[in-house]
Amino acid sequence: MMKNIAFTQLLKINKFCRPTLIRPFSDNNSDHPHPIKRTFKLLGNDMRKVKSFFSPLFEKKFNNVEENPEPTIQMDDNEFQTHCDVLIIGGGAVGSSAAYWLKKKARQGLNVVVIEKDFPHLNTKNCLTLPMGGLRQQFLLPENIEMSLYGAEFMRNSKEELGIDVRFEPHGFLTLASEENAETLKRMSQIQNELGARTEMLTPERLKIKFPWLDIEDVAIGCQGLEKHGWFDSSNLLLGLRSKAMEYGTHFIKSELIDFKFQNQPDVIIEGASTINTYNALDKAVVKMPNGETRFIKFSLCVLAAGTNSEQIAKLAKIGTGSGLLKIPLPITKRNNYAYTFNNDEINTPGLGTPCVVDLNGTYFRRDGLSGNFITGFSSCTDKESDQKETIFETNVLPYLMRRMKLSQKPNVIESWEHTFEYNVFDENGIIGPHAYYNNLYIASGFSGLGLQLAPAVGRAISELIIDAQFRTIDLTRLGFDRIIVDRPMFEHALM
Ligand SMILES: Cc1cc2nc3c(=O)[nH]c(=O)nc-3n(C[C@H](O)[C@H](O)[C@H](O)COP(=O)(O)OP(=O)(O)OC[C@H]3O[C@@H](n4cnc5c(N)ncnc54)[C@H](O)[C@@H]3O)c2cc1C
Repeated sequence: MMKNIAFTQLLKINKFCRPTLIRPFSDNNSDHPHPIKRTFKLLGNDMRKVKSFFSPLFEKKFNNVEENPEPTIQMDDNEFQTHCDVLIIGGGAVGSSAAYWLKKKARQGLNVVVIEKDFPHLNTKNCLTLPMGGLRQQFLLPENIEMSLYGAEFMRNSKEELGIDVRFEPHGFLTLASEENAETLKRMSQIQNELGARTEMLTPERLKIKFPWLDIEDVAIGCQGLEKHGWFDSSNLLLGLRSKAMEYGTHFIKSELIDFKFQNQPDVIIEGASTINTYNALDKAVVKMPNGETRFIKFSLCVLAAGTNSEQIAKLAKIGTGSGLLKIPLPITKRNNYAYTFNNDEINTPGLGTPCVVDLNGTYFRRDGLSGNFITGFSSCTDKESDQKETIFETNVLPYLMRRMKLSQKPNVIESWEHTFEYNVFDENGIIGPHAYYNNLYIASGFSGLGLQLAPAVGRAISELIIDAQFRTIDLTRLGFDRIIVDRPMFEHALM
């Protein structure tokens, strides 16, 4: 099976992919400017791009200026990259993190392009404009615990890493369990502590003393995640990852991937392929520009980080529709997630150090700021349009809130959101690593509601695979696409 093109091999391939590099230099020919002039021109373009990226976001975020619904980005032919070393499909948290890490490590050694259809907006179709950003290590799989531990470290150092503070608030997570889940929770806590995540089991008696405002009549045990658990500003995380990736030289292109072009490579033999001379490599991305024009980007390697659209894009690469290894689809679909802000002025209101509480059915709530506001939410098991957020609140959220927080009056919902997130139907876990058939495709998707907190570690892992041809920091081999081929699911038991 062909996998993981080594970096040197990659550069060798790229020599042939970037015709601009072998143009003759000439000072007075406008088609082939002197290299120094060309460098200044490119730098000028980069600065303009950074400026056009920041202006609308900072205006919106910090000056509360009315948002321009569709700010346009000026893109000239110098900005559009017809060739690149690494093409990243999707500029959400995961794709932007992969770009950030690749460029942080390789700088000028790699030309990295991100295509993002909603650029430069912080995506409004997922939660990135919401103040959720929950981060916890209350998992069973060591991979998820370690990735989240790294996430906490990254968030704490975000000012140094990204130049933007993601305002990590380490107030902890408290997961409640019934008798049925008590043993699993204990086992998970043991693994978490062995790996350096501090979690503490709390009996009902201790829960009563620590959190007197909680009703715990139906609770058998609680697990409190301490200083590495909390929440952060997810839009600041995305803003920071994108802007730093751009500062390092990543090209973000506002466009939508609509197809791939393939190239027959008769010398490549793929294990499991029925006939020889039939390997068609992924060669070019066909993208639709904002003005409707169709353009092509030739790439050496491609990273699929398109969130809820990942399966659809995989199909364009014949994944799930071809034969042999290509028969196996990318098992990523959409799931609904509902979030609400409510106000609670009752005397019983939990104090400022209140953790995010995860209830028996997965409903969670946490404090939001200092004015008695709370955020609560619930993930649905479906993506049915008929699941109205008002109905979900009344049936799935409100009964738990009223009881758990000992509320005597229905809380006042101030704002509500209904969004989809990418859900891996195979085993509810991220898929990270090379595709088994294509030797130049890496997958980073399917994080099933954990994509924000895991993004720093996932981006770093993808950069390691591309640059070092192996995982260097956290071994994520078990989360690769291969587990789907051999039908070895990696189930997580997070109770949320
Ligand atoms: C309400 C809600 C609350 C959540 N809370 C948390 C939380 O507390 N903690 C946490 O860790 N996670 C949370 N999540 C999950 C988290 O938002 C996702 O897991 C994460 O955003 C996934 O990141 P991503 O980069 O993989 O995908 P996305 O953020 O979906 O990014 C994919 C990008 O690809 C782009 N794209 C798609 N198709 C194309 C195409 N054809 N061409 C070009 N671009 C394309 C999209 O525009 C998008 O920007 C929550 C999700 C929701 C909905």
